[in-house]
Amino acid sequence: MLLDTYGRKATDLRVSLTDRCNLRCTYCMPEEGLQWLEKPSLLSDDEIVRLVHIAVTRLGVEEVRFTGGEPLLRRGLVEIVGRCAELEPRPKLSLTSNGIGLERTAQALAAAGLDRINISLDTLDPEVFHRLTRRKRHADVLAGLRAAKEAGLEPVKVNTVLMPGLNENEAPELLAWAVEHGYELRFIEQMPLDAQHGWQREGMITAGDILASLRSRFRLEPEPDEARGSAPAERWIVDGGPERVGVIASVTRPFCRACDRTRLTADGQVRTCLFATEESDLRGALREGASDEHVAELWRKAMWGKKAGAGIDDPSFVQPQRPMSAIGG
Ligand code: SAM
Ligand code: SF4
Repeated sequence: MLLDTYGRKATDLRVSLTDRCNLRCTYCMPEEGLQWLEKPSLLSDDEIVRLVHIAVTRLGVEEVRFTGGEPLLRRGLVEIVGRCAELEPRPKLSLTSNGIGLERTAQALAAAGLDRINISLDTLDPEVFHRLTRRKRHADVLAGLRAAKEAGLEPVKVNTVLMPGLNENEAPELLAWAVEHGYELRFIEQMPLDAQHGWQREGMITAGDILASLRSRFRLEPEPDEARGSAPAERWIVDGGPERVGVIASVTRPFCRACDRTRLTADGQVRTCLFATEESDLRGALREGASDEHVAELWRKAMWGKKAGAGIDDPSFVQPQRPMSAIGG
């Protein structure tokens, strides 16, 4: 098992498949992009499947979420999903994506064994989308969302980050749209993980702001605590249900005590937390011919050192060197 000194058990693995992306969301990347990882430093498809195999057979991992960067840009994605779906015990498999290109691959991903998907969409306005992501791809994301639903990747969850001066007033409209289309909307507080270090605590849209804005149009009742488990989103029942809306308040209401995550970067480093400042190299061990048990032991050791919390709101907080897109959000 992947235990830490605070008694938490990591059963949810996030695997970043690439640090590259076809959008440039302002809260994530600068306009010019980043210095991408060199191809030889990326884990190969075989290495990814081997690490997932080690995680599910030796370390108690039950869920695997593929992310990035933009995971749909990874050529072998469908095959990786298919091979992971054949593992015993079979992990639950999900994807976090910006949805661009999903129109073409949703059916194949579902057939390969993908169980669920989260698609990021911050606005219903194509112009605002362009300003937020610096690309004119709004229609592609909407097409990706429809394709995910048609492929049965339900519940389709939509991740939204609200940014001051851009889409900060769109929460009620987005929720009405999500309810109408049968998507489960989750707002994510903007975190200090952008490559440009532009995040500012003052002025950021908080969970409190989001809920106040939603309550101007909807009746929200908190879902009972038992329903939350280790999920990062606090959920509210919308207008008596059955629809729900989630808020992931990593900054103002951190949920570190219940965290069950372990993370693998596209270049094979274990991270215990999005905000960890240290990493443990598994790629090197794999390429030096280490046994499965040796790799598992390195992973256990890394997780044992997991810190109590992210501490974003602490005065001593230091932003990690890797930005969100290179960690895998
Ligand atoms: N490219 C894919 C996408 O956008 O869904 C997957 C990777 S992205 C890093 C994963 C999630 O992180 C997205 O929902 C995105 O909105 C969110 N994200 C990125 N930067 C963030 C930040 N600084 N604060 C909060 N959420 C962020
Ligand atoms: Fe790309 Fe996702 Fe970052 Fe936007 S949030 S730039 S889609 S990795």
